Amino acid sequence: MKILVTGGAGYIGSHLVDRLLGRGDEVWVVDNLTTGNIRNIAGHLANRAFHFVNDSILNEELMDRMIETVDTVYHLAATVGVKHVVVNPLAGVLTNVQGTEIVFKYAFKYWKRVLLASTSEIYGKTTKFPFREDDDRVLGSTRVHRWSYSTSKGIDEHIAFAYSDKGLPVSIVRYFNSYGPRIDEGGYGSVVAQFIRQALTGQPLTVHGDGLQSRCFTFVSDTIDGTLLAGERATALGTAFNVGATEETRILDLARLILRLTDSKSEPRFISYDEAFGKAFEDTSRRLPSMERARELLEWQPAVKLEDGLRKTIEWCRENYVQHR
Ligand code: UDP
Repeated sequence: MKILVTGGAGYIGSHLVDRLLGRGDEVWVVDNLTTGNIRNIAGHLANRAFHFVNDSILNEELMDRMIETVDTVYHLAATVGVKHVVVNPLAGVLTNVQGTEIVFKYAFKYWKRVLLASTSEIYGKTTKFPFREDDDRVLGSTRVHRWSYSTSKGIDEHIAFAYSDKGLPVSIVRYFNSYGPRIDEGGYGSVVAQFIRQALTGQPLTVHGDGLQSRCFTFVSDTIDGTLLAGERATALGTAFNVGATEETRILDLARLILRLTDSKSEPRFISYDEAFGKAFEDTSRRLPSMERARELLEWQPAVKLEDGLRKTIEWCRENYVQHR
């Protein structure tokens, strides 16, 4: 297969690229390296089955050419994560919405299957647990920038479903706190990246609020399994899937676990949300996916236990991340 991965130099994108090349696909990556990192794909640059274009998905002429060339598109390029959108709200909304419009416009022109990467942030601050894919979304005021991430990905999903209604083969995955090798403090999986770096460098682990908020941390190999199944199975067409572990972990417990696994002398330090993000930030206290639909339609669920995934991530951080700073 010939596959285009937008955002293929990013944390999740580059793992997807590894997997696709490993099984013999020919892969094109378009990534402008704003949040992606050339280090993530450097090992493939000499591979004849790998083609990298350092450019934006907003370059329509490029996307027209790329999408005509390939059989299928994995659209992962986006301003990812609440933090980036809070720092640069305008760029976040525009890249996510315009980029997705362009990808679907050309996928429709050449009739190519598209997998759209979306996010658990879609559900907002709903208190109905676990989150089922067709549940109502609950978002805060437009004065609070964090909701623009959810809003922009929501529009992306509307675009995807609109093309799906026209018959285009489309599916969507909603990632829940993916972590693993190549996590980047500035990007996705940031609490895991922050805590590991802090633990390895003897800094206090900055726990926001009381640390009782929880997340379902999903190891990247599981994230990729879910992505590929949703991108390929006929049963996935026209459908959004949660891709997340169902083991809930409080942030304070995550900090303690990382301290134990790194054998660190650091300690947790509680900091207020105001201190961490500035005023008017709203955190979501809990995020739990229902994996029923993925079990039924993809015959799959995440398998990696948090402790095992963290050991692998810590090992990678020791070898790569901390030494490069
Ligand atoms: N968090 C924290 N300390 C940090 C970074 C994040 O306590 O240094 C918290 C954050 O406030 C949130 C959770 O960890 O409650 C997960 O944050 P992350 O940015 O990793 O992802 P999110 O789920 O918020 O998108």
